Amino acid sequence: MHVILMGAQGSGKGTQAALLGPELKLERIATGDMFRAEIASASSLGVELKAILDRGDLVPDDLTNSIVRRRIATLIERRADGDDVTGSLFDGFPRTDAQAQALDTILAELGEAVTSVVEIDVPRDVLIQRLSGRRVCVECGAVFHAESSPPSVNGVCDRCSGEVIQRDDDKPEAIARRLALYDQQTAPLLDYYDAQGKLTKVDGDRSIEAVQSSIIAVIQLRTTGQGPA
Ligand code: AMP
Repeated sequence: MHVILMGAQGSGKGTQAALLGPELKLERIATGDMFRAEIASASSLGVELKAILDRGDLVPDDLTNSIVRRRIATLIERRADGDDVTGSLFDGFPRTDAQAQALDTILAELGEAVTSVVEIDVPRDVLIQRLSGRRVCVECGAVFHAESSPPSVNGVCDRCSGEVIQRDDDKPEAIARRLALYDQQTAPLLDYYDAQGKLTKVDGDRSIEAVQSSIIAVIQLRTTGQGPA
């Protein structure tokens, strides 16, 4: 089973993917996290990636597709070795038409296909408010919000005492750039998957738990033809 979570930046894809991956035994494939890990390794590729991410631009398709291809190959090997993982949960990929085509090709080569695409729909003003207030721990990745859920001590992570910062790409100019790119490059993919009958939209302007149960219900319906018990 291969599920894609779609939605603009700030729609809660990452939060939902982190919860749903273990719950559904799906491997989370989050390209943004993969790029941030490469940046943290301080490799020469990481230095190039940092400049792209800080601007809020997209990483070139060829590079993005090749890391996803390798990641899926590893997942399939693990599954063949008896690992208890049933498929993948894509978070932040595909973001362009070329990436959607590449994903179809990679999966088709394995005799598989995208099972279901879930769009987490959130009004634009709520997205901007969420993104501009987002603060993250540089050590463990815990996410806070400057107004609605700040850390107990300003700038210090409640979970690991690491430093809590605002990501460069959550600053106003980068947010505007990222949302514009979403509209231009990523939103058209919704039509691509809708035309294949794979797309379901869920209301993302609700509690994390409510959005999570809606997504689980959609995935269950798609895979078994039945809603939750
Ligand atoms: P995210 O954490 O998903 O918001 O991704 C952070 C940044 O990583 C994005 O603003 C892009 O610069 C880059 N990125 C993540 N996924 C992709 C992708 N599928 N294609 C191109 N760039 C990506």
